[in-house]
Amino acid sequence: MGSGVRGISRKDLIAMGIGVVLAGAPLVAFDFWLSGIVDRQGQEDVNTAARRAITLAENRVGSVLRSLEDLARRGVTSCQPAHIEAMRLAAFTTTPAKEFSIVGPDGTTLCTHLGIPLGFRRVMASEPIAGLEGAILDIAQIGEDRMVRLRRETANGAIAALIPDELFLPQVSTQGGPISARTAMFTRNGSLIAANGAPQSEQQKPFITGRLASDKFGFHFEMSVPRSRIAANHPDLEWLSMIATSGIALVLIGFALLFPRRGGNNPIAELERALADGQFVPYYQPIVDIRSGQLRGAEVLVRWRKPDGTLVLPQSFIPLAESSGLIFELTKSLMKRVCAEAGTAIGRRPALKISFNFAAQLFRDDSIVKEVRNLFAGSSIDMSQVVLELTERDPIENLTETRRVIAALQGLGIRIAIDDVGTGHSGLSYMLKLGVDIIKIDKMFVDAIGTDRNSTTIVETLIDLAHNMRMDVVAEGVENFEQVVHLRELGIRSAQGYVFAPPLPGSAFLQLMESLDPLPAESVEGKVAGAARRYMSARNRFNAA
Ligand code: C2E
Ligand code: CA
Ligand code: CA
Repeated sequence: MGSGVRGISRKDLIAMGIGVVLAGAPLVAFDFWLSGIVDRQGQEDVNTAARRAITLAENRVGSVLRSLEDLARRGVTSCQPAHIEAMRLAAFTTTPAKEFSIVGPDGTTLCTHLGIPLGFRRVMASEPIAGLEGAILDIAQIGEDRMVRLRRETANGAIAALIPDELFLPQVSTQGGPISARTAMFTRNGSLIAANGAPQSEQQKPFITGRLASDKFGFHFEMSVPRSRIAANHPDLEWLSMIATSGIALVLIGFALLFPRRGGNNPIAELERALADGQFVPYYQPIVDIRSGQLRGAEVLVRWRKPDGTLVLPQSFIPLAESSGLIFELTKSLMKRVCAEAGTAIGRRPALKISFNFAAQLFRDDSIVKEVRNLFAGSSIDMSQVVLELTERDPIENLTETRRVIAALQGLGIRIAIDDVGTGHSGLSYMLKLGVDIIKIDKMFVDAIGTDRNSTTIVETLIDLAHNMRMDVVAEGVENFEQVVHLRELGIRSAQGYVFAPPLPGSAFLQLMESLDPLPAESVEGKVAGAARRYMSARNRFNAA
């Protein structure tokens, strides 16, 4: 055996050494190059996140300050009912603000848009907002929560608004995943507004850091990521490391294939900006009783109204809103807008229902129950009028938890609908375990009724099942009167679709409610006829647009 070892000549060893050097040198060079990319990528990530955080903070604070200014200009300075009502409307329309309040000359909170103040507020720091006469920023502690309070001084105290501290920090990474960095936001004078992420240890060194100050309000944002996290955040970079260790041949291929290319615009940041700007607006598609012709309610369908007036349909942005975790904020802002623009009209018609599409992931955590309750608590819409639609299209990951959240929502009086029934992979019996109140039959089956025997049988079975389980049925995507006739014969009561109306903007839907479901004081014949005329002309204008 030993002779084999002795058999390697000096010449062989030299040749092997040269081979290692020749093969190793490009690998070392590659490693060097890769590490440069990691540094650049890391710095770019940190800078993008910092720019995004600062822009969001400026937009949010700007929009709340505008609302405060507007209230102050309108003389909202006391706790009288009209002033509380004005603050309530402001809370609905100003997405970042959690609460509006009147503060007395001695600094105590006298009342909020909900009535009584929530707990004792300890003001930890205060500073004027530069460039805005009479505007002050406080850092306040309310119970466990830390909030930024913006105050606009008035003749007899101030009007104030609270913004939760977490709205000052990025909630998702630039890739849409969880944040693995330490982030912190400070006021102009250096008071801490909010910080996120575990304190960093020596072992995680080196860090890639970024700092940015806002032009408008002077906020400072700081962020630091362990350099080791950069490759982990970028699957493309991890790939490159593997290739480095597996040889120079692959290096060349990797070089060609995987050199990270990054576009300038970040779609998640664009969604966040649009959300902060209030560009997501509700459209309302009427749901009609096909036996009586009466209005039973509406489904809210979101539209992205861009500043240039273009309307973007949900398919183009809902999937990203869901994968980036922005869907909750989006849904909440939509609900607030519905309460603000149609809440009174819906609340005055207790038989009407208003449905919201509620992404499956929102049923995963029972903290939403409280959020939804608080959101509707200040509006005229009763919980028994709210329907949340859970689509069958997306698989349900945790049946037990989803069922628990559904039951808690139902405990508030909210009703739950299964949407797009027949299109998903979960199977109906699985979905029915969720204990829902309404099933919505997908357009696919509605289209096939009367022409396809199997579909008709499926729909008949669904209707039987729904009736046995005391669930309501709504048919979707009804486009012509033959379908209405078929659905009526099958015993279906509620339907929505273009044959009745497309999704309508708020103003048109309000007119439609007035004409189809006039309030007692309005039900004088002439007024009904007038409202019906107004609705028809609004609808024609809408259809022509
Ligand atoms: P969906 O919940 O099944 O909503 C019904 C869709 O069918 C709407 O499309 C509506 O405009 C359309 N539609 C209504 N009647 C007819 C008809 O007679 N014929 C045809 N061909 N289509 C009809 P839209 O508004 O584009 O919304 C698409 C999907 O986006 C919705 O499907 C829903 O899954 C989702 N979506 C909309 N708004 C939201 C939201 O606020 N949150 C979430 N998570 N998803 C939303
Ligand atoms: Ca729906
Ligand atoms: Ca549907």
